[in-house]
Amino acid sequence: MILMEEQARVGDSASGFSLHSDIVANYILNFGNEEQKQKWLPKMATGEAVGSIAMTEPGTGSDLQSIRTTAVADGDDYIVNGSKIFITNGYLCDVAVVAVKTGDINGGAQSVSLLIIEADRKGFSKGRPLKKVGMKGQDTAELFFDNVRVPKSNLLGMEGMGFIMLMKELAWERMMIAIMCVAGAEFALATTADYVKQRKVFGKPVSAYQNTRFKLAEMRSEIQVARVFVDRCMEQVLKSELSVEAACAAKYWVSDLLSKVVDEGVQLHGGYGYMLEYPIARAYVDTRANRIYGGTNEIMKELISRSI
Ligand SMILES: Cc1cc2nc3c(=O)[nH]c(=O)nc-3n(C[C@H](O)[C@H](O)[C@H](O)COP(=O)(O)OP(=O)(O)OC[C@H]3O[C@@H](n4cnc5c(N)ncnc54)[C@H](O)[C@@H]3O)c2cc1C
Repeated sequence: MILMEEQARVGDSASGFSLHSDIVANYILNFGNEEQKQKWLPKMATGEAVGSIAMTEPGTGSDLQSIRTTAVADGDDYIVNGSKIFITNGYLCDVAVVAVKTGDINGGAQSVSLLIIEADRKGFSKGRPLKKVGMKGQDTAELFFDNVRVPKSNLLGMEGMGFIMLMKELAWERMMIAIMCVAGAEFALATTADYVKQRKVFGKPVSAYQNTRFKLAEMRSEIQVARVFVDRCMEQVLKSELSVEAACAAKYWVSDLLSKVVDEGVQLHGGYGYMLEYPIARAYVDTRANRIYGGTNEIMKELISRSI
């Protein structure tokens, strides 16, 4: 949590550290067998191996059960065919945890499995890093699987358990987004407050105007509400009590708040807020994807509504 917050606090959206350490490593740690753990976790800890998690496909993102990447059994191996898109660390990865269909391709959740696939396997190729609106330093790529032969010993957990593992880990992934978003909002407010105290308009600092002070007060109040909620969810994480709904609520509400705070921050900077040399402008393009990845905020509301 400290690492994620510090990265957000310096406006660093470039490194996919937390995805590597807190998502991919967790799949192997929580669901891998001893051999898989010994093979990957030490190398991932030292940084010799970079990890990615590949769920999304060109044809399906929100509806994960509809993935079309297949892993067909052939003796002691699977033959994997398909492609993935928008994969963080995809270009740099040495290993990918890949969601595949081991059962009926038209089947639902019970057909989904997770395979550990090494990047140097024959038939596994990577597209060039995708040209994103922001997060320019971070690699997001397409992955292609063309008759990739993967030993069955690379299966994570059991066949057909993939969806359950994804749902379990996605709660923490969503919490991570909330952690980074609340720290990002604190950073956006701080950089905006500094700016408005220095910039003079009509002979007075921008901060002297009631509109500015009220905006800052609103942002401060809402960020404090978010901070208390995120910290409360984190206490539940530590007790293994975080519910799916709370993780979804934290992800959607705090990422929406971050967008609002950053947008107000840009406005209070005037034209400078639109120039990339200012941290608030970089935050404007870098933070937008928080409402999309990890499950869109609309999907978060779907999941929350099911518990009501
Ligand atoms: C920077 C970045 C990094 C990413 N990293 C990864 C990664 O590492 N690994 C990975 O697997 N994926 C990754 N993704 C993919 C991301 O998780 C998906 O983009 C996201 O889940 C949405 O899927 P989609 O793009 O197919 O949108 P779609 O599913 O096509 O959604 C389009 C719109 O329809 C809405 N919608 C969909 N279903 C419903 C519904 N039931 N009710 C109401 N509205 C709905 C959505 O909310 C959205 O507004 C990343 C994406 C980005 C932008």
